Amino acid sequence: MPAQRTAKRPTLTMLVVATLVALSLGACTSSSVPVAPASQPGTSKGDEPDPLKELLRPLLSPFEERLSAKDGLIPENRTLTASDMDVPAVANLDPELRKALQEASKAAAADGIQIVVTSGWRSTRYQKMLLDQATGTYGSPEEARRWVNTPEKSTHVSGKAVDVGPVDAMVWMSNLGQQFGLCQTYANEPWHYELTAQPGAVCPPALTDAANN
Ligand SMILES: [Zn+2]
Repeated sequence: MPAQRTAKRPTLTMLVVATLVALSLGACTSSSVPVAPASQPGTSKGDEPDPLKELLRPLLSPFEERLSAKDGLIPENRTLTASDMDVPAVANLDPELRKALQEASKAAAADGIQIVVTSGWRSTRYQKMLLDQATGTYGSPEEARRWVNTPEKSTHVSGKAVDVGPVDAMVWMSNLGQQFGLCQTYANEPWHYELTAQPGAVCPPALTDAANN
């Protein structure tokens, strides 16, 4: 009988601890946007493995990896336009790019099209997380780089790129963006625009993908 009691105690304790941890994680993540999967041990390449950090990673990662609007994350339920200066994704864009996009948006609106900013400026941290996620999604860093650039090379991090939507806005930009100097940079990303031409001039040919940058 005593053997049974001692066997039960740790089980109950672990259950209580697990419940508390689950509750505290739930409470924290519900107030913000977790972007990366909660835990991917061993995915950081090149870093010196820290045994304690590895051990705590499943518990800490939801806190460490939380992004906010300050990283360029677009707030949920927000339809962002080039004039929304209260949001860092727009406010931290290169002023000339933003001005061109504002003018394009005005012209598109006259055609009944709303140009929505689906992604703008991003912090280094945000870009790195996107690249890590893409590496998981596409299976290799090489394939991921076709879609997501490194923080060092990304024009989103330098504030010189903007992603637009929805589809009718992409089509409008494809046809008329160059009037404002706004050009599609990568052939595989019809949403990604940069200020790479003089207004009204012909856009330079799009690169195959971000890996060719
Ligand atoms: Zn982009």
